Amino acid sequence: MKPVRTTCAYCGVGCGIEATVTGPRAVGIAGDKVHPANYGSLCSKGTWLGETLGLEGRLLHPMIGEQQVSWDRALGEVAGRLRQTVAEHGPESVAFYLSGQLLTEDYYIANKLAKGFIGSPHVDTNSRLCMASAVAAHNRAFGEDVVPCSYDDLDEADLILLVGSNTAWCHPVIWQRIERAREARGTKIVVIDPRRTETAAGADLHIPIAPDGDIALFNALLAAMQTRGALDEGYLADRCDVPAGFWEAIAHPLQGRGWGGVCPSESTPPKTTDPTPNPSPEGEGLLGGIDSELFARLADMVAAYPRMITLFSQGSNQSVCGTDKGNAIINLHLGLGRINQPGAGPFSITGQPNAMGGREVGGLANMLACHLGFSDGERADVAQFWQAPALVTGPGLKAVDMFRAIHDGRIKFLWVMATNPAVSMPDAGFVREALARCPTVVVSEVMADTDTARQAHIRLPALGWAEKDGTVTNSERRISRQRGILAAPGEARADWQIMCDVAAQLGYGAEFSHASPADVYREYAAMTALAVRHGKILDLTATAAISDDEFEEMEPFQWGGRFPLAERYSTPSGKAQMLAVAAPQIEVNPDYPLRLNTGRYRDQWHTMTRTGLSPKLSQHRREPLVEVHPDDAEKAGLADGALATVSAAQGASIYRVCVTSDQGRGQIFVPMHFTDTNSGGGRTGRLIHQKTDPVSGQPAFKDVPAKVAAFSPEWRGFLVSRQATVPQASYWAQSRIEGGWLTELAGLGAVDVDALLPDGPRSQVADLGKGMQRIAVNGEQGALDAILYLTRSGTLPDRGWIVRQFAGAAGSMVELLAGRPAQPQEDHGAVVCLCHDIGERQIAAAVRGGSCTVAEVGECTRAGTNCGSCRPLLAKLIEQTLELEPVQ
Ligand code: SF4
Repeated sequence: MKPVRTTCAYCGVGCGIEATVTGPRAVGIAGDKVHPANYGSLCSKGTWLGETLGLEGRLLHPMIGEQQVSWDRALGEVAGRLRQTVAEHGPESVAFYLSGQLLTEDYYIANKLAKGFIGSPHVDTNSRLCMASAVAAHNRAFGEDVVPCSYDDLDEADLILLVGSNTAWCHPVIWQRIERAREARGTKIVVIDPRRTETAAGADLHIPIAPDGDIALFNALLAAMQTRGALDEGYLADRCDVPAGFWEAIAHPLQGRGWGGVCPSESTPPKTTDPTPNPSPEGEGLLGGIDSELFARLADMVAAYPRMITLFSQGSNQSVCGTDKGNAIINLHLGLGRINQPGAGPFSITGQPNAMGGREVGGLANMLACHLGFSDGERADVAQFWQAPALVTGPGLKAVDMFRAIHDGRIKFLWVMATNPAVSMPDAGFVREALARCPTVVVSEVMADTDTARQAHIRLPALGWAEKDGTVTNSERRISRQRGILAAPGEARADWQIMCDVAAQLGYGAEFSHASPADVYREYAAMTALAVRHGKILDLTATAAISDDEFEEMEPFQWGGRFPLAERYSTPSGKAQMLAVAAPQIEVNPDYPLRLNTGRYRDQWHTMTRTGLSPKLSQHRREPLVEVHPDDAEKAGLADGALATVSAAQGASIYRVCVTSDQGRGQIFVPMHFTDTNSGGGRTGRLIHQKTDPVSGQPAFKDVPAKVAAFSPEWRGFLVSRQATVPQASYWAQSRIEGGWLTELAGLGAVDVDALLPDGPRSQVADLGKGMQRIAVNGEQGALDAILYLTRSGTLPDRGWIVRQFAGAAGSMVELLAGRPAQPQEDHGAVVCLCHDIGERQIAAAVRGGSCTVAEVGECTRAGTNCGSCRPLLAKLIEQTLELEPVQ
């Protein structure tokens, strides 16, 4: 088969992929060598996309409750309930909750249907959780949500500041590009992040600010540049509006040296922190939590390298002051005139593959459509363009407020598409209550069983990544085609098509008569003429008349060009706006003295409904870890590898403890990925408060008051099984392996072995003194179906060997029950390089053999020579090995 050029399903880098169908639901994946986002590179998630395309767990038919129904019946039910809800409670009782996983064409139709025809402004998206603060910062500073940078700028920068971004894990292809720039031109890399992530470990300088210390730091940097005479006065005069009192405000010690300042390890934190804690006699306070020496090093670098990119991501956005952080970053670039030129600018990186496309069409509650707002003129133009009978009059509810309105009964009809808010929203317990109270929940989904789908009245089978056709826009405003590779399974349909069908049932067939994604795209592109009329830069009108064939062949292109703001900003004055933003005061809750941070794992995506299907990707981290500084672990009596309960005011969850000095004192870190369908602990959404940024409405996922305590199970164990299970245990975490699933278990009281194991003939050994039990179950053909290892006080066997036996021809029953091979076998240690199956011990052996760099270890072992996602880890392992055993 000829490869199909398409776009990766996951992050906002938007890598081009060449996908080749190799069999039924089997697709070979390679990087698209000519796509400007990646030039052939893919990270681990993209590389192993092919492992996630099976039909296991897919929703294949429309369902009302647990009953499979026809599309006619399902669409009739959706339309009937919608009509009735609007008739009884008004249009504002309806809400759509969308996703950055949708294609632009899906987003466009959802926005048009809700805001133009149903008359509800409540259209929001999980992108609210991801980059809404950056959008708000762009709007405030530039007058429009325009990212002023391109990936090419990363190649041409001399200094790259990474703010709140674990780029090496979350945007790995960008990280590789940055590393290549460093090799080619000596680009300096600075990471500003409370944690010493793998990205920070690979940087030239790590600035371990306190959580939410960013504004204090960037204000102080701008003030320092002013003191040094480094400002671009010409740019400020010609291109910027600077409000009166701006310079005094940012230089004021309360702004410049305030929070996040207090050392979080202080034993008795005050209830409310002093915004100028612990100033030195010279008046040099803590600058966002770092000392003045480190600050001076950073300031020297900023002064020395005019070609400077500040790349910021969720660590900056997901905060009670995320918008102000974005503006503090933009202020620095405007003040230095470092924008709209090669290698310089503030660069917001989006998390999701099409968060940007959703922003463009207006899929956020605070936008109308196509970068337009709610002025009379804008509304009139949109109403006429859509021929809309019920155009909304103002903004709708942002995500957190939307679920509050569902909870208190103001919203009675919710349509969720391609996202899992029962896990991913903050205070997810509250969100589940809201879903349970909502009279109608419709879920358009790829998977039959998600935490949210469990609460749906109607489930509609949507197309998945390999089947969808349309466009996506990446972080650098580049629109790329996503092309269908596989036929739609079962009765699955495109999201835009489902909504057009519902619109037709509501009597709007003529306005939603789109025959194809190309048709939808053309209408959207034509609509951007309205944006241009209202002084915006978003302009796709050149593609508004493309034919179906041209749409099919469409090459990636960047709207706005390389420097979209070079001539003018989209503000009334045409100038960029400097905003005096203040460092926040942080309240410390003595009941929850730790500051909980959340984020991603390198090889997982969101709630793991797709990446969790890949045996390869599951190898990197199989369990939800709470990362704790050694001092905090000692205080709480936590041992590395034991279990701990993390509690916040909203709820509690159990995690595996990882003690690491990469974590700051007084701070803990947990992953965002785990759900009720794959774990009995580690569900982070239930810990997160409902606090949001007052401007953007983005939830503050990165700084939640929390505490941690040891959880001491009475028994521990693991199950290797062909079928996924939902065990009754205090703690469990399930991950994919070749041919089945691996489930870690721990609990209190008696173990209900029968509930854990499938039916079938059993072989078992037991040592009741140690509470040890090992039970194997054979299936119909005599093949191993499941094997369970339990203990109350002993050690458990090595999972790696057992998982390998399970995947291939299983070892002898005696060996399996013993938990080890009769003859010792070479153990390569935990897998580091997924692509070539290279383990930690092989890396250490290569280092001991004289390979001291990532390149040398790659040459010796092949590790890190394919997708490259493991290279930061390789660097860390090399460093650790050399520390222990220096090469002479
Ligand atoms: Fe996909 Fe990885 Fe590229 Fe992101 S960096 S688009 S996850 S291949």
